[in-house]
Amino acid sequence: MNAGYLGLPTVVNNVESFVAAAMIMEQGADWFLSRGTETSTGTKLLSISGDCAKPGVYEYPFGTSIRKILEDCGADDPQMVQVAGAAGTMIGETDFDRCISFDDVATGGSFMIFDRSRDLPEIIGNFIAFFVHESCGFCTPCRVGTSLLQKRFDKLLSGRASRLDLEKMQQIGTLMKVTSHCGLGATAPNALLDSLKNFPSMYEDRLASTQFEPAFILEDALQEARTLADSGAKS
Ligand code: SF4
Repeated sequence: MNAGYLGLPTVVNNVESFVAAAMIMEQGADWFLSRGTETSTGTKLLSISGDCAKPGVYEYPFGTSIRKILEDCGADDPQMVQVAGAAGTMIGETDFDRCISFDDVATGGSFMIFDRSRDLPEIIGNFIAFFVHESCGFCTPCRVGTSLLQKRFDKLLSGRASRLDLEKMQQIGTLMKVTSHCGLGATAPNALLDSLKNFPSMYEDRLASTQFEPAFILEDALQEARTLADSGAKS
């Protein structure tokens, strides 16, 4: 479509808000206020995907629990729900009674379900890689922080991490949240930080050692430079 309202170029930004406004005009403010909670009135559209029998777009009043949503869409073995996308909130089983609302689990609408067949570290590693790619590079906390997190996390995935790596990832992620220039860097470590808090045993199981292990081997890292220098000297 290349023309909209009155045949002119038209942008409709946030259809959900426009629909809510139209419904309020039609049904009245009291009708709208009767849905949701005192501090989060109205309803929320959720785009539900992942490991469930009935994925799709659902509408719920604010204040609905994660557990109720999982039951409705036929998620019979949920391990984790990622609410609000890669930069959102990672909810584990012990938090399934938390609710969708502005003051609890806020979301733009994405609701991704992962069951127990899924490898959580692999999922978190994908989120981290996504933000390494998405960082525009303007500010140091995000540009360097996302790469440092990826290096530490790769170390964990390859079975070489120690408890120090977990502490460092926690520190780097926390620093990124308060020092990044924009929301992307401030939210990039969310999945990692949530998973460190909600799934500690998952990390413990992956540790090679509780003692310090270097993030890289200096000798190996220098080898490539030596090889290049040797070949340059001979030519
Ligand atoms: S936080 Fe924002 S401005 Fe800074 S590097 Fe990341 S995307 Fe760019």
